[in-house]
Amino acid sequence: MNKPSESHLLAERIQKNSAAEVYTDIGSRGRYATDASIYQTIPIAVCVPSCANDITVALQVARELQVPILPRGGGTSQCGQTTGPALVIDNSKHFRNLISVDAEEKIAVVEPGMVLDHLNAALKKYQLWFPVDVSTSGQATIGGMAGNNSCGSRSIAYGNMVHNVAGIEAWLASGELASFGLMENAKGEALRLGQLVQQLAKKYQTEIDTNWPKVLRRVAGYNLDIFHNQNEKPYRPDGKVNLAHLLVGSEGSLAYFKSLQLQLSPLPQHKTLGVINFVSFHAAMDSAQHIAKLGPTAIELVDRTMLDLGRQNPEFRAVIETALIDKNAATPEAILLVEFSGDNHNALIQQLKDLVTLMADLGLPNSVVEMTQAQMQKNLWEVRKAGLNIMMSLKGDGKPVSFIEDCAVPLEHLAEYTNALTDVFSKYGTRGTWYAHASVGTLHVRPILDMRKDGAQKMRAIAEEAAVLVRKYKGAFSGEHGDGISRGEWIKWQFGDHINQAFGEIKHAFDPQNQLNPGKIVNPPKMDDYSLMRFHPSYKVNPLQTSLDWSAWNVQNDALTEAVSPAGTGMDPAQGFSKAVEMCNNNGHCRKFDAGTMCPSYRVTRDEQHLTRGRANTLRLALSNQLEDQALVSKTVKDAMDLCVGCKGCKRECPTGVDMAKMKIEFLSHYQKEHGLSLRDRLFAYLPTYAHHITKIPGLPTLLNLRNRIPLLALLVERLLGISAKRSLPQWQTKTIWNSPHNRYGLEDWRMKSFAGQKLVVLFADTFNGQFESENLEAAAEVLEAAGYWVNIPRKPDGHYCCGKTLLSNGLVDEAKVQAKELLDHLSIYAKEGIPIIGLEPACILSLRDEYLMMGLGEQAEMVAKHSFTFEEFLMKEAAIQPNNSHHAHPNNLKFKATQQEILVHGHCHQKAFEVVQPVLEVLKMIPGANPKLIESSCCGMAGSFGYEAEHEKISMQMAEISLLPSIRNAPQAIIVADGSSCRHQIHDGLGRQALHIAKVLKMYLKE
Ligand SMILES: Cc1cc2nc3c(=O)[nH]c(=O)nc-3n(C[C@H](O)[C@H](O)[C@H](O)COP(=O)(O)OP(=O)(O)OC[C@H]3O[C@@H](n4cnc5c(N)ncnc54)[C@H](O)[C@@H]3O)c2cc1C
Ligand code: SF4
Ligand code: SF4
Repeated sequence: MNKPSESHLLAERIQKNSAAEVYTDIGSRGRYATDASIYQTIPIAVCVPSCANDITVALQVARELQVPILPRGGGTSQCGQTTGPALVIDNSKHFRNLISVDAEEKIAVVEPGMVLDHLNAALKKYQLWFPVDVSTSGQATIGGMAGNNSCGSRSIAYGNMVHNVAGIEAWLASGELASFGLMENAKGEALRLGQLVQQLAKKYQTEIDTNWPKVLRRVAGYNLDIFHNQNEKPYRPDGKVNLAHLLVGSEGSLAYFKSLQLQLSPLPQHKTLGVINFVSFHAAMDSAQHIAKLGPTAIELVDRTMLDLGRQNPEFRAVIETALIDKNAATPEAILLVEFSGDNHNALIQQLKDLVTLMADLGLPNSVVEMTQAQMQKNLWEVRKAGLNIMMSLKGDGKPVSFIEDCAVPLEHLAEYTNALTDVFSKYGTRGTWYAHASVGTLHVRPILDMRKDGAQKMRAIAEEAAVLVRKYKGAFSGEHGDGISRGEWIKWQFGDHINQAFGEIKHAFDPQNQLNPGKIVNPPKMDDYSLMRFHPSYKVNPLQTSLDWSAWNVQNDALTEAVSPAGTGMDPAQGFSKAVEMCNNNGHCRKFDAGTMCPSYRVTRDEQHLTRGRANTLRLALSNQLEDQALVSKTVKDAMDLCVGCKGCKRECPTGVDMAKMKIEFLSHYQKEHGLSLRDRLFAYLPTYAHHITKIPGLPTLLNLRNRIPLLALLVERLLGISAKRSLPQWQTKTIWNSPHNRYGLEDWRMKSFAGQKLVVLFADTFNGQFESENLEAAAEVLEAAGYWVNIPRKPDGHYCCGKTLLSNGLVDEAKVQAKELLDHLSIYAKEGIPIIGLEPACILSLRDEYLMMGLGEQAEMVAKHSFTFEEFLMKEAAIQPNNSHHAHPNNLKFKATQQEILVHGHCHQKAFEVVQPVLEVLKMIPGANPKLIESSCCGMAGSFGYEAEHEKISMQMAEISLLPSIRNAPQAIIVADGSSCRHQIHDGLGRQALHIAKVLKMYLKE
């Protein structure tokens, strides 16, 4: 069933009888070929059901055509269990509802595609939560968590997934629906299957007693011990048998979950956190067993390598430093996060004190940072949760590989085990970074291996030695992430022949035709089978002459030292572009919804295709010849890139730094060369070039502005150019900043008149403010002058300087370089003198610090980047400097009238990406009485020309409706501050409200 005609038949029949989306094209299948493991298998087809009925139909058609089935949630598994040659059914888009909550009984019933964080957000009002707090809580689905028997950081207190699932309704391989719950209530097929498994458990009782790992963290195989518990923690407190537990951890190989009944826990009212700083890793490991006796709800490890990597990441640095006793001293070798939680705050404070005393008794006085403040704790937990991703940010082909990353050993052996395994790593020329669940003896460690070279051989050798250690310490080889492909073959090793045979019998009883996720748990492939891997020795990248400079990614690393070779030495035939794309490890963090910017197009569509991960996978497959011919310039890649708004949310929030906005520019540069630009693209791209001429032709600006007033004209423009008639267009001004009579100071003026001690600043007038909202630049200049600065606005006789952003956004990199060079030639005159360059439009001024550094523009670009600031960033920076007598320019000179008015701030995505939103709030606070609030918003959706394009207008508005427009609607009297001209326009089109640039707000309140 691999021939295209057969997969088309499958699709045709499912689509005929259901409302499901079904995909058979190589792009879609390629995007579902991977999870967060090293494996890759292109599925037969992909089905995205809209409801339960669609799944029933898909299962039936697949059964009739003998096509294997692979249920999927977020696809964040680490062992390859979510990859396979099957019909992949993605529950996460629609099949994700909360069906019911019984607060009294503390029971929730959910569909399998529901994401854990979304469930917990809905449970908050009941003061309840589902406590299996996996690190991937923002993207892991309940179905996937049950499929893997996932475990959270607090499993020492709450147990694993299996301890918290009360019932499962599932489709069996036959298509029949069965309810799995308490055995005493079981009926029909569930009862028959339960009894069969019970007989097997009886038959193999001796082997179960002897071979079954006794640690809490054992997730391998099927839970044959439900009839005679072998775990530290009973499956149920009352000891009764629940048949749903048989399905938990079955990795989609026994049944397809339709709904899950979950046992909820009360939300703890208070938490305290002790962060212990260790100067020796061994001491940290050795202490865990003693700390566990204090009754914490979590003990989590973060080692030095991870602390150092985290401190290099702008998103994490400040938070990590709150956990350190002395941030100026050498980084501790390890920290342990010890959490106490409950309803009695005083008792928790006492537990924290006990921890401090214990550490002193263990010879480590003054080693505990005591955190009682909830927000500080939350921030630190977020960083711990990002642990793996921080580690995966290592550039080069050697990557930390998961295959023994969650072996669990009893706490008393933890220190010995970690020492011995570290020795094994060095024997094979590598090392591992350690982190995670010290409380339950499950430490995550991934040795760095290069799967394109000898990685697979080393992986097997290390796994074999690790297995000996796990057996020696009576641990579990698979303690958290499941079996999948990396650990499937170790099930037999762990449990012995008889139990392995029993697993086979269970599988056969549930799934006689071997249709449900075949090759997982029973009859697994070899872990080092190259044909199942994403990267392998025959993986090849097509040569590519890139438009941007990706050499920083074109490097190799040293597995032992993690040192990275110089830029450009990585032997990437695509000059570093493919290595940048391959940084995506499929962890799915871009599927989160809660906070931040990434990824607006996914938030609206919930399509894998319109997700940072989906785009990175599409590019990777294209660059490595796994899609159609000429794939990089194909429709497949174009479609995947289409809704990327270039917001740079991923640049900052993707833990491995996948910067899709830049990748889109690179892609477009090739695509446009092959296919050319449409007239509309040209109009947008070359706007800065012709704008000047329009203002010079008498009457033309007025004529063009008619388009906004005459609906028929707008429709005509839409028909001819594809610019949405629903949009207003920026209004042409005849008096622009460049032809304004106001005299601003030039460098020569400044020098000749020798304003000794005066401070000159350059106010860079971008096309949008300069041409359509020159009053913003006037306001900025007036504010700066009121503070005592001399302001220079660059202009040239035949037009104005432009950063080239509109050209870049359309992939016209060569043309953009010409504009950029001209601008740099001009600005570097100032930068050389240390004169600050200030911009109002975040997208423009920040491109000088971002894209310019990847355009091969040399030292000039570096120098100008160092002197470029957003308007408010400059004011905040200056405000922090003590006023100097030798010149009187200082923001302290600004005197503002007081305000009572509510002020809401929408941060431009690029301000967020560069962490320069805070200055907007700080500078607004210079106005007496001002209490500006930041709107928790993703991208506004306008994103340059994107929202004007007829085919994108609707989705652009949907992006705005995620949170930006509702927040503004709820504040009818508020002043709305938005520094991005696109954002202001979007707010205007969406609500008819006029948002203001901060410069205008400051000017408004300036005392005369
Ligand atoms: C950075 C990172 C951190 C992680 N941290 C943790 C952690 O702290 N704890 C932890 O336990 N795991 C962790 N994991 C592993 C993974 O995120 C979890 O196992 C998660 O629960 C998987 O959820 P998912 O929705 O992505 O499942 P998927 O990967 O989509 O599916 C997992 C398995 O469940 C099966 N499945 C999915 N839906 C159904 C259904 N409806 N019926 C039957 N079977 C189904 C699938 O076939 C598959 O075998 C981490 C992974 C990453 C990348
Ligand atoms: S793009 Fe980034 S966040 Fe998304 S899956 Fe890839 S690595 Fe993770
Ligand atoms: S730039 Fe924005 S829209 Fe594009 S992939 Fe990144 S987060 Fe998504």
